[in-house]
Amino acid sequence: MKQRILIVDDSPLIHQMYGAQFEEAGFEVLHAQDGIEAINAAFTQMPDLILLDINMPKINGYQVCRLLKDHRDTKTIPIIIETSKTSATPVADPKMWSFETGADGYIDKEEPMTAVDFVRPFLAKIPAKKRDDSQNKPMTETEIMTALSHLLDKQLYVNVTHLKELNERKNAFVTNVSHEFKSPLTVMKVGLEDILNEACGPTTPQQKENLERVIQTVNRLGRLVVDLLDISKIEAGKMTLNVQKVDLSELMEEVIRAYAVMVKEKKMHLIKDIPANLFVTGDKDKLMQVIINVLHNSLKYTPQKGKVMVQLKKWEKEVRLEIEDTGPGITKENLEKIFDKFVRITAEKREGTGLGLPIARDLVLLHGGKIWAESESGKGSKFVIVLPVSPAK
Ligand code: ADP
Repeated sequence: MKQRILIVDDSPLIHQMYGAQFEEAGFEVLHAQDGIEAINAAFTQMPDLILLDINMPKINGYQVCRLLKDHRDTKTIPIIIETSKTSATPVADPKMWSFETGADGYIDKEEPMTAVDFVRPFLAKIPAKKRDDSQNKPMTETEIMTALSHLLDKQLYVNVTHLKELNERKNAFVTNVSHEFKSPLTVMKVGLEDILNEACGPTTPQQKENLERVIQTVNRLGRLVVDLLDISKIEAGKMTLNVQKVDLSELMEEVIRAYAVMVKEKKMHLIKDIPANLFVTGDKDKLMQVIINVLHNSLKYTPQKGKVMVQLKKWEKEVRLEIEDTGPGITKENLEKIFDKFVRITAEKREGTGLGLPIARDLVLLHGGKIWAESESGKGSKFVIVLPVSPAK
């Protein structure tokens, strides 16, 4: 009995070309012009192999492949997805996605190897079949669409559940490793500071200089560990707020005072407009962390002699905090990414972890507030934080 090849493509030219090649090579050829026809031809005529195009009306090749590979009667039929690099596809990497959907092979229409030569090794592996063409009845388009939508939900559910599990495992790992780092770093810091302060005997200026550099590095590692612990805690839903009445005006002034040395060293102008006694209900330490993360960035990314403006205003039931700088600005494309974890815009190689803004965003959200950035490349950046005066009940 001749081996049966099902050619699925919406192009009559491909049917003609492949049809002639396969018939000449001694195969029986079946034709389907779209996804629905392909599924029915596969169920009712049980081909030995399917050559499947991706871009087709009604259902694309990937979906046809998913459906056939999920069904008891068709899952063992080898499916070769064929496309060309130049044709439009819904995904960036059609080859990877073909295998992901269950295809057994992938052939580029523009490659010199003929389809017949390509499929032979797949056919050699399958035993000759006894066919019973009346075994399955054709399905209506609605039945196929319903089966497909159930299948997509099933696969999406499995994938999302798997990703969630992986994410939880990764979070637990990051938390464990960060904890393991925390105590040794503290021990190292205390020990190094003792030596620097000559608690263990005199040190030379050269040794002091070296020690200061090492302590700076230890501090940097310490900040990374704290950020990682914070983000893991937030993601695990374990970050709690110690809610109290907070004088945001005073908190702002406190943070600004803490940066006085940096402002002076960089010869920057820090202009502030902070009316007294603006209160919100929230966690003082967490709000301080938000302000530090945003203000620190503005001071860090703005070059020497630049300007940073800090403004606090009350607007009905909200307090609005704006931190604006004359730094390099952020492109529209990057504005959408900077609140994502570990995103660092490569042109700016300043010290940092890429966790400052995601932590700030999550903490603001925990307070029922909003945070966003307004910027244009080369025109400075403005970060806006809006907090409710009292949290929503
Ligand atoms: P980082 O540790 O890299 O500063 P953040 O999460 O705080 O991480 O910020 C993410 C990225 O957003 C930074 O790497 C930087 O590219 C950009 N960014 C943040 N604040 C500013 C700013 N004021 N001016 C220009 N770019 C900024």
